[in-house]
Order: sequence, then structure tokens, then C-alpha cells
Amino acid sequence: MPDFLDSDIKYLKGVGEARAKTLAKEIGVANFRDLLYYFPFRHVDRSRFYSIAELHGEDLPALQIKGSFISFSTEGEGAKKRLVGIFTDGQKLIETVWFNNIKYFSSQYRPGVEYVLFGKPTIYRQAYTINHPEVELYDPAKPPTGFRGVYTITEPLRKKGFSVLTLRRMVKEVLSLPGFNTVEETLPDEVVKRYHLMPLKEALVNMHFPQNHEGLQRAIERFKFEELYYIEMNILRFSMERGARIKGYTFTKIGPKFNTFYQEALPFELTGAQKRVLKEIWRDMKTGRQMNRLLQGDVGSGKTMVAFLTALMAIDNGYQAAIMAPTEILATQHYETIRKWGAQCGVSVALLTGSTRKAMRRDIHEALEDGNLNLIIGTHALLEDNVKFRNLGTVVIDEQHRFGVAQRARMWMKGHTAPHVLVMTATPIPRTLAMTVYGDLDVSVIDELPPGRTPVTTLVRYNKSRVEVDNLIFSQLRQGRQIYIVYPLIQENEKLDLKSLEEGYQRTCDTFVGYKVCYVHGKMRPEEKERQMDLFVRGEANIMVATTVIEVGVNVPNATVMVIENAERFGLSQLHQLRGRVGRGADRSYCILMGKETSGADTKKRLAIMAQTTDGFLISEEDMKLRGPGDMEGTMQSGMPFSLRVANLARDGQILSIARGAVLSVLAGTTPLRAEGAAPPSASNSTPPIILSEKEIKMTRRELALRFPRSVDWSLIS
Ligand code: ADP
Ligand code: MG
Repeated sequence: MPDFLDSDIKYLKGVGEARAKTLAKEIGVANFRDLLYYFPFRHVDRSRFYSIAELHGEDLPALQIKGSFISFSTEGEGAKKRLVGIFTDGQKLIETVWFNNIKYFSSQYRPGVEYVLFGKPTIYRQAYTINHPEVELYDPAKPPTGFRGVYTITEPLRKKGFSVLTLRRMVKEVLSLPGFNTVEETLPDEVVKRYHLMPLKEALVNMHFPQNHEGLQRAIERFKFEELYYIEMNILRFSMERGARIKGYTFTKIGPKFNTFYQEALPFELTGAQKRVLKEIWRDMKTGRQMNRLLQGDVGSGKTMVAFLTALMAIDNGYQAAIMAPTEILATQHYETIRKWGAQCGVSVALLTGSTRKAMRRDIHEALEDGNLNLIIGTHALLEDNVKFRNLGTVVIDEQHRFGVAQRARMWMKGHTAPHVLVMTATPIPRTLAMTVYGDLDVSVIDELPPGRTPVTTLVRYNKSRVEVDNLIFSQLRQGRQIYIVYPLIQENEKLDLKSLEEGYQRTCDTFVGYKVCYVHGKMRPEEKERQMDLFVRGEANIMVATTVIEVGVNVPNATVMVIENAERFGLSQLHQLRGRVGRGADRSYCILMGKETSGADTKKRLAIMAQTTDGFLISEEDMKLRGPGDMEGTMQSGMPFSLRVANLARDGQILSIARGAVLSVLAGTTPLRAEGAAPPSASNSTPPIILSEKEIKMTRRELALRFPRSVDWSLIS
């Protein structure tokens, strides 16, 4: 029997062939399912009159209150001028506010007359306010019209005669057809029960025609859960499948090179976090499964040493290793550091970048192919087809957000067996993103900085304090320190940005006479950029004026001041990355955020967060809350592999964790996986497994196929 929900929308009463086409084209509604999942973007509650006392929580629908106005007054000046009416339901008061047509509204309503106020209560200064309410005379004869959804109607739909009312009628029609009763739950029964979710049919009804506010909230919650549940199901299954099927090299021993270096040449005691992470990496490498691990560690947390020791694990087992960096400068810096370490334990190291000379390049290619070279460090140049390895065992990718998934995969192709992959990033990824976008990677975290660092002092300053800032720079320059001055460069307004960068450069030269200033921006030819950066790295230039090209960048411990101009135009995570460029030596360092005096409270709050904390994770969570996940520049590789209708990664972290837990307990109960010995990643032992029935397994596969049509095969759950 065909599924009721698959019925073509043209068969719905009053739709027909022509209008069905418009619906499909405009809002993607081709069948009954699409229609029921075309959720209202907001709701209006005219089912009854609310009392002011019973309002609670955020996200209230537009609702109606019966009562009368007590007084009107105008507040504020100029653009902020507004009319405030105090309204009472006889017991409590609520504010109503009008921002325009003040004159009209102030003469419109009489005190003592009974009105019905209709609008969405929002919280302002800890009390509810209704902005621009609809006000009608109370008419006892007028029947309540209910609690309803409001739909987005496009212009072409409107032209074809569709309105919110039409859509509402169509939805109502589908919900009242006998076939609706045959609609099957899309989540396993046990999951619905265990997590107290509203069942599907009830949730669909409540989404469009809520019984009450609570019913609507529970319906929304259910759909959020379901959405996140299937995303997690997709990701976790994929990573288990990879774990079970993709063979990796089995490394059997920690060998002489590692031990020599570790016991005799280690330049510092490893931090506890570095040791823990190395153990996690080693545990992966000896399992026979391919490692795919994301290493998150704040700037300066010592990822380079972890990369090197990881490479040694491969080399001691007779394999080669590669470390890939996003820029030539970074690769060169890694090379300088790691070559010295390598020399102390008999490891041969070479550097391969775009500017490696031809003869040298040929030698390197040869040495890689015949296995004489243990460790190669480089840029994208490593991905070229003519770079072949004898036996590449491990790849470390530094600052991964510059490399996409596709590039990760290309490194794999270089061997018959996929090498172990360690991806390192200094961009703290909010938990919700780590669980979704990066959900196929195992995650390790270095959450501890090496001892002896002085935290960077962060100051928020405005133009009026320019002299104070200049004086600080002068005093640091006199002590032989180096300075970064950074300007934003935002695509849409490139010309203007370049101009402010140039002016800033000029001003810097004019102010700090006698000091050498270098100059770097994204539009420069790469060679020129490298040359300018090099001046700074080698200490020949005292000040670097730059755009964010230094964001993922250099290690200059002698740099002690980072001035960020127009700081309000940067995201928090970006500011955090930039700040990480200073405070790398033992000296006291400063990060000065130059803000705009006229910025709003939100902006000032953002800058204040930076001054208050150096915790990268906290900052990235705040950043995501403020800007939303889609906007997390640098964290996303190629946009999200899925789209969300109701859930929001920035706000629904808690539901996401619960959904993930549910998936883990379902996967823990899927026998074929157990048989292959692949335990679900970090399955919590506390929640008992959920065993799915045959029917539920089929249903889950169908849901996954519906939601992720182009994904991997689903044979594991079967
Ligand atoms: P990042 O994680 O940003 O790549 P680096 O690997 O560049 O950090 O390390 C930053 C600095 O800290 C380097 O100078 C490095 O030698 C030093 N370092 C790393 N680990 C330790 C440690 N355990 N103790 C002391 N210094 C360390
Ligand atoms: Mg680094």
C-alpha cells in the first residue's frame, strides 16, 4: 500500500494540476508529507484571552489580552521617540509601545474602554512588552478563532490565489483525511518513550494547530530532536562503518627513534594534555583501523611537538610521515623547528613547497619514492600527483580549516592503505559543530598551555585614547619588542578596507619614525607577501601592518603588542586567533582592541568578553550564539552537509546531546555492529542499548534515505 504521505498534492481538494505545479516550484510542496512539514514560521493564538499573570518564558506566540488602557506617555528623543501605553487586564499591568505614528495612536484609544490587545509579548527590562499591538474594541459576540500557524507565502503563490488561509485550509484537510491515521511514527517507539517525545501525529497537528502553548513547544522540541537524531545517526553510522571497514596500518612498537628523542633530546617536559593526546593517538595507531582524529589545541598549546612525536611513531615502524601546513611561511617554520629535532634522533626531514627549486624537488621526489626520506614537511605541493611515497604511514594536517575534506581524501589516495590522519586546529570548535559537521572525526583536545606563559593583557580602547596606545607601543619598541597592527579586510568592501589599511600604514610610518614598518595584505602577490612577512619573522621590521592574512600564521615570540583596528568588525573567534600571535614569549604582552565609540551595546559586550576571558572554547560558543553557526568563518569546510528546518545548532546544544545519546544507545543495540567488534564511538555505558524491531530498522533506513539521499550505503543497519 502506498504511503498516505506520498500522495500527490494535486489530489488534495481544490488544488489540481496547475496549482500543484506552483506549489512545488515555489515552496517545494509536491505531496502531503511536504505540506505537513511546511511548518509555520510563527503562530498566533486567538483561542482565548490570556491574563498578564500567566505569561511566562520566551518565544511566546502572538496572543490576546482583554482589558483597558490606564495611561499614555511619550518617552525618548529623536529617532528613539516612542509612545508607551500602560494596559491592564484588571489585575496586572503590561506595557505597549509604538515607535511610529505616535500622534495617531496617542489620540486613538480612550481610557476606561474595553479593548482586545493582540501581539507578541517580548521581554524588555525584565518585564513583558507588546510592540505595535493590534487593538480592537472588545466584542463579546465575536467567537475565538483558535491557535494557528502563519505560513510564508511567496508572491507567485499569492498571484495564483494562495493565502495563509488557503494553506491553513489545505493542511487542515490533510490532517482530517482518514489516511492521516495510517501515518507511521518516524522515530523508534522506544526512543519516543524513553525521551518523552510527542508522537509524530500529535506533533504534526500541534505544529499547525496547537492545543496550547505547551503543546506547540513540545511539538517543536520533538521535531528538533528528530532532525538532530537523524543527523547524528548518519554521522555516527558513517564513522563506525569507516572504523569497521577501512583498514589502517597497525603500528606495533614505540621504537628507538621515539625513545632516543623522548629520553635524551626533548627540549621541555610535555604538558599533561600533550601526554594524554599522544596516548590517544597511539591507541588509534595500534588497532589496525585507520586513525581520523581532530586535535584541537589553542594557539601556543604545543601542537607542533605532538605532530613530530606522532610522525616518529610511524617512522619507528618503518613508515614515512608527512606534515602539511597551509602556508609556505608556516611550513618553513615547522621545517626549521622539526629538522633540528629530527637531527637528534636520526630522522631525515625535507621541505617541499611551491618555491622549492627544481633540482631539489627532483631529489625529494626520489627520496620519497625509494624510502630514504622519513619525514616530509610542506604545503599543498605535497598533494601534487608526482609526489609519491614508498609507504606513507601518517599524515598530520596543521590548521585544518584551510584544507577541505577533499584534500584530506587525496592524501589517503597516496597509499594502498589509508594512512593515519591527524588534523590539527587552533580554532576551537563549539561542541555542537564538533558533534555534527566534524562528527566523523574522533576528537582530542589540548586544554592546557605550557607553563611559564604570562597571559596576554587585553584592553578595549577608543580613538580618544590613541595617544595612550601610541605610548604603549613606543615603550615596547624601545625595549626591542615587535608590534602587529591589524586591519579588517571584508570582501564586500574591499576598496574601502584597502584604503584604511593604506592610511593606517602611512600613519604608523609617520608616528613611529625611525622604526621599520612592513606591510602585508591579502591582495599582494604571494612572493611579495612572503618577503614582507619574512622581514618581520627575522626581526628586521619592528612593526607589521597587516590584514588578517597573519591569522593563521607565524610564531614570533618577540612580538608583544597586537593592535586590532576596527575590532568590532571581527568575529570573536577571529579576534582570539589574532590575539594568539602575541604572548608567545616569557614577556608581558598586550592585545589592544580599538573599538568604535558609537557601536551598540552588543558590540561593546562582545569586546568585553574578549577582555574578560582567554578561554578559546568559551569564546567560540559565545561567537556562535551571537553570529549563528552558518557564519562561523573558518570552521566550516564547505558549508553544512545538511540543512535544518527547526533545530538551531547555536541554541539547541542540549537537545543535540540528548539526540546523540539516543543514537548511541540505538547503535549499541544493533547486533551486526557488535559482531564486527566495532563499539560505537564513546558509547555511554550508563544508557542501556535500544533494540530495534525489524519494522523500526526498515523505518530508520527509509528516514535516512529520505533525509540524506546521496549518502553512503545503509547496509550496516540491516
Ligand atoms: P601551537 O599549538 O600553536 O602550534 P606551538 O607548537 O607552536 O603551538 O608551540 C608554541 C611554543 O610553545 C613553541 O615555542 C614550543 O616550543 C613551546 N612548547 C610546546 N610545548 C611545550 C611544553 N610542554 N613546555 C614548554 N614549552 C612548550
Ligand atoms: Mg602551530
